[in-house]
Amino acid sequence: MPFTFSADPTFAIQEDAADKIASFKSKFYFPKHEERDAIYFCGNSLGLQPKTVDAAIQIELASWREIAIGGYFGGKNPWLYYHELISSSLSKLVGAGTHEITVTNTLTVNLHLMLLSFYKPNKTRYKIVMEAGAFPSDQYAVETLVKHFGLDPADAIIEIAATAGEKLLQTQQITDIIELHGSSIAMVLMGGMNYYTGQFFELEKITKATHQIGAICGFDLAHVVGNIPLELHQWDIDFAVWCSYKYLNSGPGAVGGIYIHEKWASNADTPRLGGWWGNDEKTRFKMEKGFHAKPNASGWNISTTPVFNMIGLKASLEIFDQAGIAAIRNKSVRLTAYLEFLLQQLPQLSFEIITPSSIEERGAQLSLYFKENGKAIHAKMIENGIIVDYREPGVIRVAPAPLYCSFEDVYQFYCILKEHF
Ligand SMILES: *Cc1c(COP(=O)(O)O)cnc(C)c1O
Repeated sequence: MPFTFSADPTFAIQEDAADKIASFKSKFYFPKHEERDAIYFCGNSLGLQPKTVDAAIQIELASWREIAIGGYFGGKNPWLYYHELISSSLSKLVGAGTHEITVTNTLTVNLHLMLLSFYKPNKTRYKIVMEAGAFPSDQYAVETLVKHFGLDPADAIIEIAATAGEKLLQTQQITDIIELHGSSIAMVLMGGMNYYTGQFFELEKITKATHQIGAICGFDLAHVVGNIPLELHQWDIDFAVWCSYKYLNSGPGAVGGIYIHEKWASNADTPRLGGWWGNDEKTRFKMEKGFHAKPNASGWNISTTPVFNMIGLKASLEIFDQAGIAAIRNKSVRLTAYLEFLLQQLPQLSFEIITPSSIEERGAQLSLYFKENGKAIHAKMIENGIIVDYREPGVIRVAPAPLYCSFEDVYQFYCILKEHF
């Protein structure tokens, strides 16, 4: 481990005092446990509510109330351009140009839209490579997609599983399979981070291997955006999708994000399912025949901007802008390593940390695998005011999101485990 930690209580206090983004914790609401703020380690499932969201919603309610249809062009944040208020902050988080980013719909819907744009199976090239144990919604999306094209999922989907006895995938294993199936592969589609193990994959290497065999490479970044800084454009990734309610703290069912590399996004002929919000603004309201896609990622928008579903994202991204993703990641690396260190001091609690120990291969989450009683232990943690989640089989996921979790929170967590388990 590259850090020197201590299990002494004063250590956590010192760490918080030295934390440059410690003050951001006060920008969020916490659920209560026995009248105190709960220890919230579930930001990988649903991020906390920024205190600024309420006022931001009031602004749009006022526009709607006072100027109604005029809100599209007037008011504080003209709704017609609302998504543009978001793309600049978001592009910094994912390392892409604003023209390569759009926000619309929700994650699995966006995944389907990307699949329909980029998956073009023919007789010889039709296979999709994904990780075994991908998030179920992604599995369902790919399964139904290949069936939609009249293909058999058992033949068309190649799942890469960890070798026997292992929980994690090796990059070499992934690139070997890509090489092996070569020209039969149409697309590689992986979660950027596996939701269960917390393993962050080597996106650039996977993309390179995919392009070498002439296929398209896309990622589901639900667990990555707002967690780990990205360079999607530089890594030459073809497309990516993510949701905004996990590390991005934008509220349940908030609008999802799409990245499309400019080589595809700027080409109005890149196939897609169209709607009037993706049409060139100059002709959108002429109501004429013939779809003219905007020459950027928002050319994939279909419907009227879901403004009320975007307010939380806009408010939350202002916080990310203030803190900066580099500082957030810096703290996160240290905070998660501290959590790992403290967990290692608990030999009486029998679990295995299945998340990679290497910092480059993980974000703010550690997955604890319990061979036995995982569910009961999880219930007991909740009873004691620790909000973490449980995923079958046997895993408790612990995610100290750096914007609102402190070193003292992690220490408290450790004390409760030490005392009760
Ligand atoms: C959270 C998550 C989803 C959820 O998709 P929705 O369409 O927003 O419900 C899908 N895929 C992955 C990898 C996730 O982590």
